[in-house]
Amino acid sequence: EAWRPDGEDGRRGAGGPVKVRVPAKVNLHLGVGPLRRDGYHELNTVYHAISIYDELTARPGDTLTLTMEGEGAGELALDDSNLVIRAAHALAGYAGVLPHARLHLRKQIPLAGGLAGGSADAAATLVACDALWGTRLSREELAGIAADLGSDVPFLIHGGTALGTGRGEAVSPVLARPTSWHWVVGIADGGLSTPAAYRELDRLREAGTAGPPLGSTDALLAALRQRDPRVLAAALGNDLQDAALAMRPALADTLKAGEAAGALAGIVSGSGPTCVFLAADEAHARGLARDLTAAGVCREVRVAHGPVAGARIV
Ligand code: ATP
Repeated sequence: EAWRPDGEDGRRGAGGPVKVRVPAKVNLHLGVGPLRRDGYHELNTVYHAISIYDELTARPGDTLTLTMEGEGAGELALDDSNLVIRAAHALAGYAGVLPHARLHLRKQIPLAGGLAGGSADAAATLVACDALWGTRLSREELAGIAADLGSDVPFLIHGGTALGTGRGEAVSPVLARPTSWHWVVGIADGGLSTPAAYRELDRLREAGTAGPPLGSTDALLAALRQRDPRVLAAALGNDLQDAALAMRPALADTLKAGEAAGALAGIVSGSGPTCVFLAADEAHARGLARDLTAAGVCREVRVAHGPVAGARIV
């Protein structure tokens, strides 16, 4: 449960660098309910952290600076609009300390990919700066700041497999037998805007052309309790998938290619455009990744497993 490693008192980094690793998420079930008065949709989701990671290093500094490498470098603004900078300011403001740090982000999670990379970076920043500055907030306090930064941020501190309700920010762990699930992740060229995907879903629903809403997570939770990936495959679902397909019709080819390659199931991850495919085991995932790469429908294909821990000092 601790986000600090065993024996970690939270003061590591009082002088030295603090390095935090944070995973990407997929939604095994993404049930989108009605639009709320605050502009968010009521969600009923099962989050699952997978082994694609960003890494944030925090060092002492005289001001707050951010540099980055990897996915999105050169595209992503490093100013106050960046979720890393926003997270550092939010923590410093809450704890009453100066937001001084030299932050460096190594990004492997694609931008606007439906894998919550920005939220992951915000979660990593909270954990790293909490250690660097010795603010030592409780897990609940961090989760509160996280929720203000974005609906997915509390889960990315948490990790594992968890139920998300409200606008996704209310997270409770899913108790399941320790099982690793094996995934193939098909990354597309370019991103999709999450707000645009929700707007498209609203439009499809108004026009009466959206599929029926997924509703309860019961079937998915029951499937997780079994160890059979075929059972899990049948329970995966995403209410945003039709919207993502409407905005990016080529994703249908990606899903088809995964199916043709023998995936147990394929779904759009979150708001897309990343597609994830469930494999029977690790060897099956490797074979599937090879075939999906050969099909030429993705910018990049990676294998991953889950669940993995949330933002952790390494
Ligand atoms: P989600 O699944 O949570 O909707 P996503 O994976 O589709 O997110 P992200 O990469 O998390 O998309 O971010 C979406 C947008 O957030 C980016 O296009 C960018 O404008 C902004 N952003 C701000 N800070 C970051 C960051 N550190 N990393 C990625 N995106 C960021």
